[in-house]
Amino acid sequence: MLNLVLVGGGHSHSIVLKLWSKKKVSGVKVTLISNVKNTPYSGMLPEYISGFYSYEDSHINLVKLAEVAGIELIIDEVINIDADKKIVSCQSGLKISFDVLSLDIGSRPEKSQIKGANLYGIPIKPIPLFLEKWHKIIDLADNKPHDKMILTIIGGGAGGVELALNIHHKLTKILSAENLTINLIHRGKRIISNHSLSMSKKLTKILEQNQVNIYLNEEVKSIDSQKITLFSGKNIDSDYNFLVTQACAPNWLKNSSIETDTQGFIMVKNTLQSVNYPYIFASGDIANIRDYPCPKAGVFAVKQGMPLYQNLCNFLTKKSLTLYYPQKNYLNIIGTGNKNAVASWGNICVQSPLIWYWKQYLDNNFMKQFPH
Ligand SMILES: Cc1cc2nc3c(=O)[nH]c(=O)nc-3n(C[C@H](O)[C@H](O)[C@H](O)COP(=O)(O)OP(=O)(O)OC[C@H]3O[C@@H](n4cnc5c(N)ncnc54)[C@H](O)[C@@H]3O)c2cc1C
Repeated sequence: MLNLVLVGGGHSHSIVLKLWSKKKVSGVKVTLISNVKNTPYSGMLPEYISGFYSYEDSHINLVKLAEVAGIELIIDEVINIDADKKIVSCQSGLKISFDVLSLDIGSRPEKSQIKGANLYGIPIKPIPLFLEKWHKIIDLADNKPHDKMILTIIGGGAGGVELALNIHHKLTKILSAENLTINLIHRGKRIISNHSLSMSKKLTKILEQNQVNIYLNEEVKSIDSQKITLFSGKNIDSDYNFLVTQACAPNWLKNSSIETDTQGFIMVKNTLQSVNYPYIFASGDIANIRDYPCPKAGVFAVKQGMPLYQNLCNFLTKKSLTLYYPQKNYLNIIGTGNKNAVASWGNICVQSPLIWYWKQYLDNNFMKQFPH
């Protein structure tokens, strides 16, 4: 019996398990190690924050998925991998050996450069910890609707902008406009700098219409209990500070001998195999495909699900592997929190409620493929 161990129940592994439930390789035992029972679907997360989707709507139930796929699910956190001895170590002390390993553990925001971030910053990932804090903030607003609240989003990429708009949408239902202040701090000279100028302009206008204060060309030096200090010397009053900064990889990966890039992401070939361990695969945010780097977006983690499944099966059955080439352009849809959305494809950018309804249709269809 061969042991296939999957670490992290992210987007790619959810697809792998769905496909495995339909067609298995005989003589293979599959184990999923996940630190959560329900994994968030990135497409719906912002609208879970704004209150539109329920927790069940926006999360894939890994317990049921594992049951349907006929695999073993272990709820634990992987903290080390001995790639040569083929052993995965977990937080609980459990050690699991593997013949083939696949990692889909996502990324988290970089915070090591910001003094005080550990104490006063709220990283967007891990999502369950972020949601715990977000629910406390909503409870506080509900209990004291006449108190002032200042929230700051650090990082003006697509995730940061979407978070700002959806937080705004949720909190304006509870607090009056004069009691709510939302700031967005971005180190680039325009928000979502890796998308088209037209997308950036459109979203800047929407943020401004929602009274979000945008600070551009600014980098956060430190955070304390009531204020943020920028490298420019400016101070910004802030009660809650969300970190949606550049994605980084977990530190424990650095202790393994799996080759990573300078930011700690696993270097893979376009078969999704590690460049130095052919029996280790990686996909989604945690992987950096050599010669074909792609954005850290759920869209790519989803697209890699099918080739990952095929290559895991092919590798286990000693067949040749298929090659995955990430698409150059992709449709990016940002929900603006009010049943409206902005879509971009290359340089084309459109805003319309129809796009929001279309996105809702696509997202619901995506979730329908998993058991509830
Ligand atoms: C606010 C926000 C909005 C976003 N909106 C979009 C969007 O609309 N569209 C889009 O394409 N992208 C979006 N993104 C980006 C998207 O969230 C990520 O690119 C996507 O989640 C990556 O998927 P993944 O499968 O690589 O990892 P993840 O979805 O992060 O899944 C990783 C899983 O592994 C688990 N895990 C992690 N470490 C361990 C461990 N050591 N042991 C066991 N389990 C572990 C995690 O709990 C999680 O369940 C958004 C990001 C943010 C911050």
